[in-house]
Amino acid sequence: MNRNPDPDCLFCRIISQEVAAARVYEDADLIAFLDIRPLFPGHVLLCPRMHCPTLLDLPHELVGPMFSKAQLLTKAVELALEAEGTFLAINNRISQTVPHLHLHIVPRRRKDGLKGFFWPRAKYQDAAAMEAVRAAIEQQARKLTG
Ligand code: AMP
Ligand code: ZN
Repeated sequence: MNRNPDPDCLFCRIISQEVAAARVYEDADLIAFLDIRPLFPGHVLLCPRMHCPTLLDLPHELVGPMFSKAQLLTKAVELALEAEGTFLAINNRISQTVPHLHLHIVPRRRKDGLKGFFWPRAKYQDAAAMEAVRAAIEQQARKLTG
């Protein structure tokens, strides 16, 4: 059951079965199905049933269940695909093509070609630049934890 379906949202339409998907898991709060254009076979998307655009919109009571099912499906994907590991990712707004929260669970193997493919790394200019960023995030986290 989706409590607040958005008729324009592709994943809400998958959840309501208006659009077909290759479902691999579902419960009262969450659903997982194969990504139609996988990075590798077995690439799964785990979504809350309720329409929820990004991780920041996920109600607190669903954070635990979503992470717990992420762990379960990571294990299921590794076992089913005989993967050596997995890659998990969430796009929030930038690079997010479907505005309904989804966690990508992607099976990985050594030398599968994904390494460094879309994450070019940089360096901090110096220790002071790194410290300024560290302190800013720490301050925001402190404020958010009250
Ligand atoms: P993102 O770009 O992080 O928002 O991921 C959206 C993902 O949804 C992409 O990896 C798409 O391949 C996938 N996708 C789009 N349409 C469908 C569909 N009908 N069924 C399953 N996956 C889809
Ligand atoms: Zn939706």
